[in-house]
Amino acid sequence: MNPASDSEKEECRRLLDGLSLYLDGEAEAALCAEIEAHMAECENCRIVVDTLRKTVLLYREESPAPLPSDVRRRLYAALKLEDYLVTGKGE
Ligand SMILES: [Zn+2]
Repeated sequence: MNPASDSEKEECRRLLDGLSLYLDGEAEAALCAEIEAHMAECENCRIVVDTLRKTVLLYREESPAPLPSDVRRRLYAALKLEDYLVTGKGE
């Protein structure tokens, strides 16, 4: 009932850029605050962060790898942000 506007998408994209740092606990305080403020207003990102947090914890039990690219891709797809994905194909 409240389709994301371009500016909201931009907020989501910026949030996702810092999400792996945030989930690793390595984000600066300002970024943490920004992410948490955005999550308070964006249900999509709340769900994504919650899901990702669990995913990252699972992965961490295996190895200290960064956010896997397929997880990132699904994350963007879930938010309909595929347009922002840089896949490296074509120019
Ligand atoms: Zn969002």
